[in-house]
Formats: sequence, C-alpha cells, structure tokens
Amino acid sequence: MSDEYKTIHEFDFKLICEFFSGMERQGPGSPEVTIKALSFIDNLTEQSQIADLGCGTGGQTMVLAQHAPGQITGLDLFPGFINIFNRNAEQSGLQDRVKGIVGSMDQLPFGKESLDLIWSEGAIYNIGFERGLNEWREFLKPGGYIAVSEASWFTEKRPAEINDFWVNAYPEIDTLPHQVNKIYKAGYLPVATFILPEKCWTEHYFARKIKAQEIFLNKYAGNKAAEELVASELYEEELYRKYKDFYGYTFFIARKTAL
Ligand code: SAH
Repeated sequence: MSDEYKTIHEFDFKLICEFFSGMERQGPGSPEVTIKALSFIDNLTEQSQIADLGCGTGGQTMVLAQHAPGQITGLDLFPGFINIFNRNAEQSGLQDRVKGIVGSMDQLPFGKESLDLIWSEGAIYNIGFERGLNEWREFLKPGGYIAVSEASWFTEKRPAEINDFWVNAYPEIDTLPHQVNKIYKAGYLPVATFILPEKCWTEHYFARKIKAQEIFLNKYAGNKAAEELVASELYEEELYRKYKDFYGYTFFIARKTAL
C-alpha cells in the first residue's frame, strides 16, 4: 500500500456524498439479493413497521417495499440522500408507505419494541457490527427480525495487502463463524446467512461507478481531494478483483429472542 493512500473516511464527507448521490446504490448488493433476504422473514403484515438504516438513496428500500407489506422508514445521516430517496419513493408511487428521514443510526428515533423488521444493507459498519446489533435490538418487537449485510472474511488467513487494507478501513471485519456468534450473543437467533454473489460487486456496484466517476472528475478537474477519492475507489475495485476469494459481503438474517 502506498503511503499516500487514504481510506474513504479521510475524504471530505460532502464530496463522498455527492459522488455517491448519482448512483442507484451506494454499496454492493442487488434486487435479487434483497428479495432473497426477505424470503427468510415471515412476520410481516400491512401493519408492520420496518426501518431501513443507512438507506442511502433507497435502491434496496424500494425493492423491499415492492415485495413486503407494511410501512417503511428509511433513515440516513446525509440529507442529500434522503431528498433523492423521497423523490424515488414518489416516482415509484410508494410515498404513502415509504418515508425517508434524516437521522443517525446511533440515536434511533423509534419507540422501544416498535419495529417488526430492521433492514440495513452495507451500512451497519458505520456504527460497528456488534454495537449495531446490540443497540438496535431494543427497538424490535419480541420475535422481530434484523437483516443486515456486512463485510466478512471467507478464510482464516489472507494475504497481507488485503488484510492491511481492511484493518485500516474497518477493523471489525471478521470471519463468518465469529459474526454468527456475535449475532447469537447479542440476543438473536441466526435464521440465515448467505454470501452476496460476485455480480453484486462487479455489475451492480463497480460497473455503475464508472459513469459517476467520469461526471465527478469532469466537475472537479484539478481538485486533489476529488481525484484522490476516485483513485481510492479504483484501488478498492482492484483489490476486490485480486482478493475476492478472501472477503466479500454477507447477508445475515436473525430473529430477536425472548431473553
Ligand atoms: N443501504 C444503501 C447505502 C449503503 S452506504 C445501499 O446498500 O446502497 C452507507 C450509508 O450509511 C450511506 O448512505 C451513509 O450516508 C449512511 N450513514 C453513515 N453513517 C450513518 C449514521 N451514523 N446514521 C445513518 N446513516 C449513516
């Protein structure tokens, strides 16, 4: 890794948000994967209350709404994403059931035991996997579900380059058995665990970034921070292609236990 390399966390937050605003999704995933994760959840009715935490512009939320009954609140820290989210909900005719609000996942504005389902794709890392599982639990009704996707190691050992990248970017990345154990220890019964297929990264994420990168570099020609952001995105993609056997995203679906 070069000394000049920076993690995404060090870039100007507004620039990052602007870059990702132009994309349908802000992390790896796909409509098929959202629908598959939903297929393990059997407690939903028209009265259900669902929260999508770190919803971004709502790519996955709209898919969720089209395949599940109930009211969905999307929550994200970045107001620009929530504006696009609410516009998307309206364009899909879902505005009566799907609402985006600005808020933080570490201070949820929901009542205790008020939610039937907490959804979060590629976002729980912002609070940390274990902390999110523990803190969000109290907002679920007894028997409520949580469905989150999170970065995982697929092997016990991996090459130093990819290990160092993740330890620097998100040290809480862990192996699947450890992650399932964290779910269990936080007071949930693991229901399903599946790894996101490669095309969730390549087709649904990286390929769609190319256009966003072009627009962004045109607008910010000569801006060092913008150029570094794009370079770091490209580096992330290069690492994925090189080391995809060692890590990826996993969907975890679990049900709140009584105790
Ligand atoms: N779920 C979306 C977005 C994932 S990117 C998708 O899969 O496409 C992670 C999202 O988390 C971003 O939209 C970012 O703005 C949001 N985020 C970061 N910190 C947050 C916080 N503390 N509370 C709520 N959202 C947060």
